[in-house]
Amino acid sequence: MSALLWLVLVTVPSPQVVWIATPRGETSVPVTTERGTAAVAAPRLGPPLGVTVVLDGSRVTVGLSGAVFVFQLGAPFVRTGGVVYGLVGEPYVARDTVFLPLHWLADCVPRALGGRYRWDPTSAAGAGRLVELPIASAVTAAAPPGVASVPTLPPTSAPGPVSAPNPITGLRQRHAVVIDPGHGGVDPGNPGRYFPSHLAEKDITLAIGRLLRAELVRRAIAATLTRSTDTLIDLTDRGALCRAACDLFVSVHVNAMPDGRRVDRVSGVETYFLSDAKTEDQQRVAQMENEAISFETGTSSAATGPLGFILRDLQLNEYLRESAQLAQLVQDSASRIHPGGDRGVQQAGFTVLTTARRPAILVETGFATNRTDAAFLASSLGQHKIASAIANGIVAYLLELERKRAIAVPARGR
Ligand SMILES: [Zn+2]
Repeated sequence: MSALLWLVLVTVPSPQVVWIATPRGETSVPVTTERGTAAVAAPRLGPPLGVTVVLDGSRVTVGLSGAVFVFQLGAPFVRTGGVVYGLVGEPYVARDTVFLPLHWLADCVPRALGGRYRWDPTSAAGAGRLVELPIASAVTAAAPPGVASVPTLPPTSAPGPVSAPNPITGLRQRHAVVIDPGHGGVDPGNPGRYFPSHLAEKDITLAIGRLLRAELVRRAIAATLTRSTDTLIDLTDRGALCRAACDLFVSVHVNAMPDGRRVDRVSGVETYFLSDAKTEDQQRVAQMENEAISFETGTSSAATGPLGFILRDLQLNEYLRESAQLAQLVQDSASRIHPGGDRGVQQAGFTVLTTARRPAILVETGFATNRTDAAFLASSLGQHKIASAIANGIVAYLLELERKRAIAVPARGR
């Protein structure tokens, strides 16, 4: 426990200023932690870096060194050049000013613009330092192919078995996924208003889960189900199945609207990653899926009390970025084939996701309270389409994971 507490203590301090070092001089920019995570006022980055910021509704478009970064207010990720980066912290507006997560400067900018910027976390006064490399040195560094542009660096030192890329997926390493078909046994999940009378959510999630396993195995990815029959597994034990030899955890569910005026009209697919629920709708879904706890008896492996809280908190920060990116890639893929539309990536506090020791997402594959969605999910074709789309999103994530592992020095592999 002492090692754990030490980890907590050393991760708490945040720099009060961040230094921007360019060939034109060195400037300090204040860092605020008013929203819990470190952030900088975007306009303060204007003079030293030449950053441009456009706020349009909830979309924040930031230009830097010829690259365009697109943020959404309140969302912990950013897109640039077709790549989604997860963020620790979210962009927000306070006092008519856009604040951007410090994590974007420290991690995303060097990764996206590796030839131009370097992050130095160990400079004086506890503050981090973003170093803009002189154009000449960036050009020189660009001379050997594949050295200057970090994001396109070919795999050279990936840990684990490396072989020729798989002809279907392009993946080079072995991967394993845990698939969690939601509910089961005495917990039917949502009753499925427009499903055929003998089907409930637990049957649809099991059917999709089995197909997803087959789709992954077809792509040479090992896949395990938390349940392969109509049984109930404790929520906290489901995530625990994804530990050492597991790359990610995906829980499959079917959504339902509560009785009311919008009940039939809402449709579409959405993908959640673990965080505190932000909106009323996100809280509704989290509460609905967490209700399975009321079916569970006996003890489970969940840590409780203050230690459990610290464990979950640490875990949350460690896998937040990865989970956000996994969620985005699976959502992008699933929304392309879904008849009910794209409800986007969401964040909420799902119990089933808190015990996974790896990036974890929960896919709400559609609404049982919508006729079109329900018919799609109850059909063999629809189930195949969803399973195949989730598998493709997982492959996209694993390709990105292999790329990142190849960039990281071998010592950082885990
Ligand atoms: Zn469910």
